Amino acid sequence: MANTLFHIAYKAQPDGLQDANTQHKPKFIAKKQQIIANKMDHSLSDNHTAPSTTMSKSSLYWFRRDLRLEDNHALQQALAAGHPVQCVFIFDTNVLVSLPSSDRRLGFIWHSLLEIRDLLRAAGGDLWCETGEPQAIIPRLAIQLDADTVYANEDYEPYARQRDQGIAAILSAQGKELRQCKDQVIFAKDELLTGGGKPFTVFTPYCNAWLKRLTPYHSQSREVPPLAGRLRAPAGVPAMPNLIELGFTQVEPCLLRPGMSGAAELLADFCQQRIQRYHEQRDYPAVKGVSYLSTHLRFGTVSIRQLVQFACFDGSEGAACWLKELIWREFYQQLLWHFPEVAEHSFKPQYRDLAYPNRQDWLESWQKGLSGYPLIDAAMRQLNQTGYMHNRLRMVAASFLVKDLLIDWRLGERYFAEKLLDFDLASNNGGWQWAASTGCDAQPYFRIFNPVAQSQKFDPAGRFIRRYLPELAQLDDQAIHAPWLAKQLPDGFVLGRDYPTPIVDHAVQRQQALALFGRQ
Ligand SMILES: Cc1cc2nc3c(=O)[nH]c(=O)nc-3n(C[C@H](O)[C@H](O)[C@H](O)COP(=O)(O)OP(=O)(O)OC[C@H]3O[C@@H](n4cnc5c(N)ncnc54)[C@H](O)[C@@H]3O)c2cc1C
Repeated sequence: MANTLFHIAYKAQPDGLQDANTQHKPKFIAKKQQIIANKMDHSLSDNHTAPSTTMSKSSLYWFRRDLRLEDNHALQQALAAGHPVQCVFIFDTNVLVSLPSSDRRLGFIWHSLLEIRDLLRAAGGDLWCETGEPQAIIPRLAIQLDADTVYANEDYEPYARQRDQGIAAILSAQGKELRQCKDQVIFAKDELLTGGGKPFTVFTPYCNAWLKRLTPYHSQSREVPPLAGRLRAPAGVPAMPNLIELGFTQVEPCLLRPGMSGAAELLADFCQQRIQRYHEQRDYPAVKGVSYLSTHLRFGTVSIRQLVQFACFDGSEGAACWLKELIWREFYQQLLWHFPEVAEHSFKPQYRDLAYPNRQDWLESWQKGLSGYPLIDAAMRQLNQTGYMHNRLRMVAASFLVKDLLIDWRLGERYFAEKLLDFDLASNNGGWQWAASTGCDAQPYFRIFNPVAQSQKFDPAGRFIRRYLPELAQLDDQAIHAPWLAKQLPDGFVLGRDYPTPIVDHAVQRQQALALFGRQ
């Protein structure tokens, strides 16, 4: 994300499609811009008119996708540098204007910030929050608070790189510095390259190199010194805007408990109860088998080093399997760093101009969970209702959109980007390009998930389907995977009325997909 809490790269629509979600955007965006403009005017007049000449020197620590006060590399560096530290967060209007006012992620961020603010206050400081463009705010704050150095953790998304380059240049012209630290990954940028000095584009050799290079140093905590006595006194700190002031309506915390405390609770639960069986249970969406930590990783309410330490310390088969998933995350991060163009189009050039038919009505059925394929529909309703989707289902739902409905993967990627609490450009893009066979180390195009077989294998008793499709709850364990094939359906249940008939025939669509991809 941009700020970089989350940056949804709204791209040009692939040919022939109008996204239903964009229909209300212009009016909404105008309203959001007005709210944000008012807020900015207000905060400018309140607090930020003239640089103070009487204030003593300070350092700035700028929170982005690292919303925690523990094991935080740049914060550690800022606090160790000697000057009183002012912690800053910016609600980035470049990002906010594109988000629907009900966006759940704002609630997660806001509550996570509140936790941080309270801890900073308890230690004698405060959190300085502003709304606007970081490119304008950070250099101004550096002058206003007499800070020679702005500390931040690195962010590898294209928007963030551009933003940070711009800010670094402005600060440099002011005789100041943006100092960035590696924090959200174990290995970044060029730290892991092939023997030939090139970026890895295949996961297994990357994973082997990652594991070989890992030493205790890499996962060692970047201990944050005690805050008390090291924070700038809270003079002139603007009030933190609430969600309504920011133009968002979702005031309740999302289902997931936010903040460092939420992450710690989930991690303890996972490490005490499930990590050792992760390899056996992780593919079954009805089972509580995975960690559910992705949103915390995304917003940095938990440290990747801490997770790697846990996995290595545990040492079980389950922990090794889980560590590999964390390495997939890093694989996609380094891929986006080396090949930022994947954010716009297929990694494999031969799939850049595929003539997807892109049927709008099929896209909408998929989005709403009304395709007539129960596992796909349950997955999409889980996404719509909770902002989360199980990994197995992300793979199956993505494959279904591209290979059964013949819709451009970028439209599915974009829908996930709008809905997922854990949306992360690198992982989402990587996952979509994997499923669509357009990515670097992707599923071969001729391997096409059968949505019914996947359902029978990974939700054999239909427990997950029943949870999200109550209209199918009465169907038996056979019929629930493919109601249109059932010899008998429950009395009173009418297929086509109570639940849709399938919008496509998988066998037919499979052949179409093979033909579409095979032509390249
Ligand atoms: C089409 C598609 C889209 C996806 N979009 C995202 C996304 O926007 N954000 C996101 O964090 N993950 C994404 N993933 C990866 C994966 O589905 C989620 O990370 C995982 O389901 C989150 O649940 P968890 O935290 O319980 O994972 P666990 O199984 O407990 O795994 C632990 C952590 O490892 C990382 N991880 C696990 N699997 C993957 C993977 N395949 N690729 C990259 N990292 C992984 C995540 O950070 C995750 O939190 C996507 C996968 C696919 C197929």
